Amino acid sequence: MLWATCLPAYTQILHISLFNESPVKSIVISSLKGTYHIFGDSTLIMDQSQDDAMYISIFNDRLLLRNSKAPIGNFVNIRFEAVDSDAVIRLSPVNPKADARQYNDNLSVSIAFGRILLINEVRPDFYIAGVVDAEAGPNAGAEFYKAQSILVRTYLYTNLSRHLSEGFQLCDGVHCQAYRGRAVRNPIIVEATRATRDCVLVARDSSFINAVFHANCGGETESGANAWLNDKSYLVPVKDPFCANSSSARWTKSILLDQWKTYLKSHGFKFTSEVAPNVFDFSQINRKQYYRIGRDSIPLKQIRTDFQLKSTFFSVVASAKDVTLNGRGFGHGVGLCQDGAMRMAKIGYSCEDILKYYFKGIRIVRYSEYNRVKQ
Ligand SMILES: [Zn+2]
Ligand SMILES: [Zn+2]
Repeated sequence: MLWATCLPAYTQILHISLFNESPVKSIVISSLKGTYHIFGDSTLIMDQSQDDAMYISIFNDRLLLRNSKAPIGNFVNIRFEAVDSDAVIRLSPVNPKADARQYNDNLSVSIAFGRILLINEVRPDFYIAGVVDAEAGPNAGAEFYKAQSILVRTYLYTNLSRHLSEGFQLCDGVHCQAYRGRAVRNPIIVEATRATRDCVLVARDSSFINAVFHANCGGETESGANAWLNDKSYLVPVKDPFCANSSSARWTKSILLDQWKTYLKSHGFKFTSEVAPNVFDFSQINRKQYYRIGRDSIPLKQIRTDFQLKSTFFSVVASAKDVTLNGRGFGHGVGLCQDGAMRMAKIGYSCEDILKYYFKGIRIVRYSEYNRVKQ
């Protein structure tokens, strides 16, 4: 197996902004496991033991730190540094309230644009496992999780500078990759991340691939060119028999015929008010780019956005009253189909088989080696 040859260790500490989409004003931080040194403006203030809760809020443009007994001080920066390598910290935003999440490694707290900026300084394995858990859920097999780990790692190393101007590397929202804390729901995720350590994907020209994935392709993946005008040799349509039986393989939506007519007219379609409903019928056996009537057309991705559809892969059947959209798949359809890849893993395909099925002409390489060659 190729990934067994990947280097055993690659350490670089990542800086990930947590609760990035929420303007956190106050938060409770506690140790779930192990001890943390707490630094206030680079000076060691105290140690936080297991189950100790610390409260941080914004006061006069500074961070007010207190424990359950009394205020401790005001700081520009507060840092929680893990003493133990398996320490776990728990973050529980109070204002605005959000579900608590837990993280490995260190936490740096400061103020940016009037909100508390929380940066997890974390080893890549922990981050990647957390993203795989958030993006793929806990119910798949080992070879699927290995494939997903390699995609997450490839995205990570091609986007390390995405938020550098804001003082961190990636955010924890879907803008970058969803990261809802450490992976705790399935130990196979953590093992898969470790087993593929240092492995990333490159295209025929040895550049990192755009490591995209989606929930369900509906039976055929979409090309990068059609979806985003991003024409890549490895992002080409692939027939996918593996995802057909999953719950998100099919969807329907009804729209009043009058609303459909009004919508199309607002996009330049020309037809008389007496037009027969079947003129609006439309079929997609294979993926198309446009919905057409005669010479008039509109991009399917425009319709998907405007009607908040699960995919662009749908047919249209019109009646006197409404149009029914019969759709397939969920997501943009480009790259790896998660439902199909999960099924492939279940029936015995390897991680490498799965990746090469959805991305044409790619190779698995070692990130550290690739980087050395590049420099
Ligand atoms: Zn981001
Ligand atoms: Zn699929």
